[in-house]
Amino acid sequence: VRIAGTAAVEWPDGAEACVSLTFDVDVETPYRSRHADAERRLSQLSEGRYGIRRGLPRVLELLAEEGIPGTFFVPGRTALDFAEQLRPLAGAGHEVGHHGHDHADLSRCEPSAAGAELAHGLEALERGLGVRPLGYRAPHWTLTPETLELLWEHDFVYDSSLMEDDRPYLVLQDPGDRKLVEFPVHWSLDDYVYFGYDSADGGRMAPPGAVMEIWMSEVRAAAKEGRHLTLTMHPECIGRPYRLEMLAELIRRARREHSIAFMTLGDVARLLEG
Ligand SMILES: [Zn+2]
Repeated sequence: VRIAGTAAVEWPDGAEACVSLTFDVDVETPYRSRHADAERRLSQLSEGRYGIRRGLPRVLELLAEEGIPGTFFVPGRTALDFAEQLRPLAGAGHEVGHHGHDHADLSRCEPSAAGAELAHGLEALERGLGVRPLGYRAPHWTLTPETLELLWEHDFVYDSSLMEDDRPYLVLQDPGDRKLVEFPVHWSLDDYVYFGYDSADGGRMAPPGAVMEIWMSEVRAAAKEGRHLTLTMHPECIGRPYRLEMLAELIRRARREHSIAFMTLGDVARLLEG
């Protein structure tokens, strides 16, 4: 594929920068897709469900208090199993994006499995939540050439799985004339890297203050460069009270020090597409 920059845009109300808060609502799917014996891993599955029982409501409450719409990437399986708990995502300007069906690591799947994973996810989001998503984020950020082609085939407007720039850019089909807005991500802008912990793989349990300093520096850089910034979070990670406090403080500090437009990725994609 080839890439190209996007045309410069004015952020709403003359804001210096635009920030999208994105949440991957994985719940049980990463454990189920990774472990054939997931049914026996009650503790791990339950940590996933903490995300939807406690994390998501807290996140939604904070976003409502701050008047910020969020982008929520939901695996199809999650949309079917937890449709009731996900109902609030349909309101308050929030956006639901595609995050695979079973949260399969695409780099480890047969290329031929990509079509089903994408199609089943689309069906499930439609059936569970009544949503036809504009955007896609590959599970574990494992976008493959097959899935990229499928995104064009299914008329997706944007993707958020790649890292070639820290500004939104265009991914151009080659050969072909299709394009896709890419909202780049990075591990340093993902809460899981700092807060995720697993009995098998361990983790860091970083102090939230340290994460706030890193993310605030990124907000400052985005403001200086007049660009967009994507933050990635998981309700089971960020939804712990001492971490959500960090997110609340980050939003308030960002707003005190700069004028920031908080927008969903879908709305930013529409703006960039003009
Ligand atoms: Zn995920």
